[in-house]
Amino acid sequence: MLLLKELSEACGVSGNEGAVRQVILDAIRDRVDEYRTDALGNLIALKKGTGKTARKVMIAAHMDEVGLMIMHIEKEGSLRFHPVGGIDDRVLLAKKVLIGENKVPGVIGAKPVHLLEPKAREQVVKFKEMSIDIGVSSKEEAERLVKVGDYAVFDVPFVELGGALRTVKGKAFDDRAGCAVLVELLRDRYPFDLYAAFTVQEEVGLRGARVAAYSIAPHLAFALEGTICDDLPKKGDTSPTTVLGKGPAITIMDRSVIADRRLVELLIDTAEKNGIPYQFKQPALGGTDAGAIHLSREGVPSAVVAVPSRYIHSPTSLLSLNDLENTVQLMRQTLARVNDLDLTR
Ligand SMILES: [Zn+2]
Repeated sequence: MLLLKELSEACGVSGNEGAVRQVILDAIRDRVDEYRTDALGNLIALKKGTGKTARKVMIAAHMDEVGLMIMHIEKEGSLRFHPVGGIDDRVLLAKKVLIGENKVPGVIGAKPVHLLEPKAREQVVKFKEMSIDIGVSSKEEAERLVKVGDYAVFDVPFVELGGALRTVKGKAFDDRAGCAVLVELLRDRYPFDLYAAFTVQEEVGLRGARVAAYSIAPHLAFALEGTICDDLPKKGDTSPTTVLGKGPAITIMDRSVIADRRLVELLIDTAEKNGIPYQFKQPALGGTDAGAIHLSREGVPSAVVAVPSRYIHSPTSLLSLNDLENTVQLMRQTLARVNDLDLTR
């Protein structure tokens, strides 16, 4: 819980995951046998197995989050930016951000509603027309605080909302929720060698996972995610992707992977035997690290388990701590059985 707060508040837009990696490293150092950071910045930790097994299981959770990169400083000191990862332009206006290593505060400028022509009120402002205001009045002044190439993250503190679902809100639950679950799983020892891969640059194309999977060369893999939860009441009969509080979401298929049926069945069977709630992520949306991992080398049977998170890829997301804990339980119980799974075809 405290770890989720720390992870959520750490800044790690794709390509700049160092602060998140440090939080994770501090949490896992005493729980693992070996760890290393590879050339791209993936943190790969090994927890050696108890049995005489050659099987290697990789579990990936990505450290990076969506955010912004400063691309240009205007002469009056406002900052032009480009999104890093998929962000809807509509969630950007008037949001508070922190820029660069020194976390310089800024706000994404918006025209007061009073000045908008009726037609403009109906249009989406594109990010290219926005700029970040850090309160300075010249380019020179701005350059003392920030530089082109600096990252900006949303400035959102972690808050407990409570209720029956034990809801919390914060930024970047995609995928700090997955990171928190993976750190928790490293408390236990399993019959196989567990490679925990805290990956980089997932949001810009599953890049870290690709090289991590290549170096680990696992026999099977899981990706842990904070996934889309679009469960608010709607008109018409659209099914939600996942529902908050209904347990870990198991992916059958998304844009990047068709999950290994044997792993999916093991997950379902384990959930049912242990009375752990679970749900299926409505198919075909999004992609995860499993998309890169399952195509590594000669192919890796892979599955995805996710904590439902509302409003991902926006400044603030919400999740249920019940879901988070049930995801840990489902993974823990599944891992206890995964060594016996026959993976021959
Ligand atoms: Zn993600």
